[in-house]
Amino acid sequence: MDHFLYKDGVLHAEDVPLPEIAAAVGTPFYVYSTATLLRHFRLFDDALEGMDHLVCYAVKAASNQAILRTLAAAGAGMDVVSEGEYRRARAAGVPGDKIVFSGVGKTADEIRYVLSDGVRQLNVESEPELEVISAVAVELGVVAPITLRVNPDVDAKTHAKIATGKSENKFGIPIAQARAVYARAAELPGVEAIGIDVHIGSQLTQLEPFELAYRKVAELTEVLRADGHDIRRLDLGGGLGIPYTRSNEAPPLPSDYGALIRRTLGHLGCEIEIEPGRLIAGNAGLMVSRLVYVKHGEGRDFLILDAAMNDLVRPAMYDAHHDIVPVVEAAAAAESTPYDIVGPVCETGDTFARQRAMPPVAPGDLIAFRSAGAYGAVMSSEYNSRPLIPEVLVKGDQFAVIRRRPTFDEMINRDTIPEWL
Ligand SMILES: *Cc1c(COP(=O)(O)O)cnc(C)c1O
Repeated sequence: MDHFLYKDGVLHAEDVPLPEIAAAVGTPFYVYSTATLLRHFRLFDDALEGMDHLVCYAVKAASNQAILRTLAAAGAGMDVVSEGEYRRARAAGVPGDKIVFSGVGKTADEIRYVLSDGVRQLNVESEPELEVISAVAVELGVVAPITLRVNPDVDAKTHAKIATGKSENKFGIPIAQARAVYARAAELPGVEAIGIDVHIGSQLTQLEPFELAYRKVAELTEVLRADGHDIRRLDLGGGLGIPYTRSNEAPPLPSDYGALIRRTLGHLGCEIEIEPGRLIAGNAGLMVSRLVYVKHGEGRDFLILDAAMNDLVRPAMYDAHHDIVPVVEAAAAAESTPYDIVGPVCETGDTFARQRAMPPVAPGDLIAFRSAGAYGAVMSSEYNSRPLIPEVLVKGDQFAVIRRRPTFDEMINRDTIPEWL
């Protein structure tokens, strides 16, 4: 459920009509709903009630300061994958001891920065990284709290570009090597292995892969404890999928996911961390665009929008589906026609949908992309010299620009000319 509903035939974000935002900031833009963000966070928090736990929002899904602040105020921790994300979370008021640092290629500089700031834990993805973390910690005179990210060799049954838990993926330490790497960690002076981490992929629409992975984590916990390691924290990653269509998809609920965690891992008495990103932000955001032209081609009609793949890359990158709807609701009797819905960028890949049934629309109409809150604005670029589009946050009947659109001059003047020119 989200808070983007038609009221009197006009699509609203909570209590704000989208045309009002479009008039204030121009198109295209992203808009997020505070109530939806908080609702999704609480679904996870409630699902783990009674277990010692921390829900660490995966910052990479949508990293605007205002979004982080909204979630942090509700008690969320954060999962970050770069120094930049760590600094964003800190700037949004999240204390270091509620931030976990994940990522497959942390540099010594990044490790130094987060360790000297008191990061909650580093999720280690390889033996060489383990050695570097220990060396940096010794240099700083601290002991780094770490988990090892194990790769359980489980098929997440999701899009190949976002599956991370198979042995052929670059992520984590093969679970068969885990004992040896934990033994190595125990010898190193700069690290203390306090737990296990696993993250098998994104947009998972079934619980079974989680169950397989978590059973392996439970087994490994017992084995490592028998080896003398004090395993007391389990980081279970993110990945729970969301419905991208309003019709038939019904991914598992956070409550069922929570019950699965309790069933597979509850008996171990560990502190539980989860790292959801998409499920918190995905359906809490829309991208709103304006129709520029309707073009009648040879046997195919096109809707040409003022938004493009640089603003929302998911369809081009992952063949992702977004529901695309007119902001002013079509009459119930209106007949739909198939269109290819495209942007103005000079790439055929700049296609949001092919042969999508749309009600009658005309140039100047506002068009909304649903489920665009996660991996939307964060992946945008200025390709074709199109300035980054603004982000807006709604709360009840208020809205605020939380990242403004840069001017053309700001965009161009970031380039500097060498003195020989
Ligand atoms: C991307 C990522 C997440 C978040 O995944 P979602 O599918 O957005 O929930 C969590 N943890 C790690 C390590 C990630 O790389």
